[in-house]
Amino acid sequence: MFFARSCRHLPSVAVPQTLPWTLIRRRSMAEDITRLDFLVIGGGSGGLAGARRAAELGAVTAVVECHKLGGTCVNVGCVPKKVMWNAAVHAEYLHDHNDYGFEVGQVHFSWETLKAKRDAYVSNLNRIYRNNLDKSKIQTIQGDAKFTNNPEPTVEVNGKKYTAPHILIATGGRPSALSEEEVPGASLGITSDGFFELESLPKRSVVVGAGYIAVEMAGILSTLGSKTSLLIRQSGVLRNFDSYISTNCTKELQNSGIDLWKNSEVKSVKKTDSGLELAIATKDLEKKNDEEKISTIGQVDCLLWAIGRQPNTSGLNIGGIGLETDERGHIVVDEFQNTSRPGIYAVGDVCGKALLTPVAIAAGRKLAHRLFEGKKDSKLDYSCIPTVVFSHPPIGTVGLTEEEAIQTRGKENVKIYKTSFTPMYHAITSRKSQCIMKLVCVGKEEKVIGLHMQGLGCDEMLQGFAVAIKMGATKSDFDRTVAIHPTSSEEFVTMR
Ligand SMILES: Cc1cc2nc3c(=O)[nH]c(=O)nc-3n(C[C@H](O)[C@H](O)[C@H](O)COP(=O)(O)OP(=O)(O)OC[C@H]3O[C@@H](n4cnc5c(N)ncnc54)[C@H](O)[C@@H]3O)c2cc1C
Repeated sequence: MFFARSCRHLPSVAVPQTLPWTLIRRRSMAEDITRLDFLVIGGGSGGLAGARRAAELGAVTAVVECHKLGGTCVNVGCVPKKVMWNAAVHAEYLHDHNDYGFEVGQVHFSWETLKAKRDAYVSNLNRIYRNNLDKSKIQTIQGDAKFTNNPEPTVEVNGKKYTAPHILIATGGRPSALSEEEVPGASLGITSDGFFELESLPKRSVVVGAGYIAVEMAGILSTLGSKTSLLIRQSGVLRNFDSYISTNCTKELQNSGIDLWKNSEVKSVKKTDSGLELAIATKDLEKKNDEEKISTIGQVDCLLWAIGRQPNTSGLNIGGIGLETDERGHIVVDEFQNTSRPGIYAVGDVCGKALLTPVAIAAGRKLAHRLFEGKKDSKLDYSCIPTVVFSHPPIGTVGLTEEEAIQTRGKENVKIYKTSFTPMYHAITSRKSQCIMKLVCVGKEEKVIGLHMQGLGCDEMLQGFAVAIKMGATKSDFDRTVAIHPTSSEEFVTMR
């Protein structure tokens, strides 16, 4: 079953609406419309951050949320994913215990225990988010928001109307799904949302997709002990990352025991007594006259589609109020998060740019400062956004890829430094993983405009380097910095 995230299809979540909202004090005479200073649709990363900052700045604010507070990140994204990744890292280290002198006997892993603790943690976060809104005197309206056809922008929730001079759309996105026409039996699979509902570790998993969510989920499943295949349409994963990363990550997935099916697509899925059976077509499009091969993977108890995400706009009636969208349905905004309709703004995944929690948060906060503090230049700078993929080992990347740098600055102006080595941690382990690092520099002064790495510790290594790069560091600034020994990160300041 697909777990569609459109709230209209989800069971309602009981959230009390009992606060004495004296704040909502202005009502239209002609029609019963509640008037606020700031109305936010979507209680996820961007919406909550924008609402709380606006309330701090004195705006009478309400947040409409149709599912759980915290949005994708807290409920079905970064937070539960990181818990699962941490568990997978434990599993990896268990392999190394003997090499480090620990004699560990039979180890039993309980997915059920992990899930119960993870769910409790997430529920607690939901409560904290609700308390924070209450403390900030922000009204929480539980339900699906939809724009009405009133002349002034107005939103209806559960039959009640709300308006404000400033309305923020922060409705995020949901996993893309294939229709039964596209792939018969497709709905027998789950998406990343369904991954977090799995009650036990699947014995046999197939993950479809080459983006970071596919890579992360295949890694978690495989490392925790599910026999996992990853199906990708081309020859490598993470194809929009620097090619050094894409190639290495593809190799690491295979090294770690994931059964990688390149140039492959699922043609159909059927249910059998022993699980799902997938018919798979494999054809290398780069090879002339390569014949399509049809193979079968059987006894699959988890088919996970990780084939992209789409914006949550379908129930909002944004067409009715004339908001411009792109070809994929994302709301078009300018650099100040203004939509094509004055007084309506959008931040976060619904805009389709840099789909990351800190991006949505920062854009929401910047917008609040512009609207309610008179900071007319307040906007998010979308350049040099660092990002981590929680693969095994993790990936860190910031700035331009080598390919982008060459395209935008010219090959003659770009200088690349790179290195690849086995981290010292693995000196005495039989399990090995590589560390690769690349610096993309430009111009005579060799300004560092891109940094890419995959290896143990790269997730925590990136943030500091991102600060340096945002500040405009050059290769000689890196070289002037004394190394920290023995670490992997020291390689970045000793590259030649
Ligand atoms: C599996 C996975 C892993 C991820 N890992 C990371 C990570 O490690 N690091 C990272 O930075 N990012 C990660 N992300 C991305 C991150 O979760 C999103 O970029 C972020 O949540 C976007 O915030 P947002 O405010 O735009 O939307 P969301 O957080 O999705 O919030 C939107 C909210 O709007 C609500 N809503 C939708 N429509 C309506 C409506 N009509 N009326 C009322 N409410 C509505 C939704 O229920 C939702 O709560 C991950 C995402 C996924 C799926």
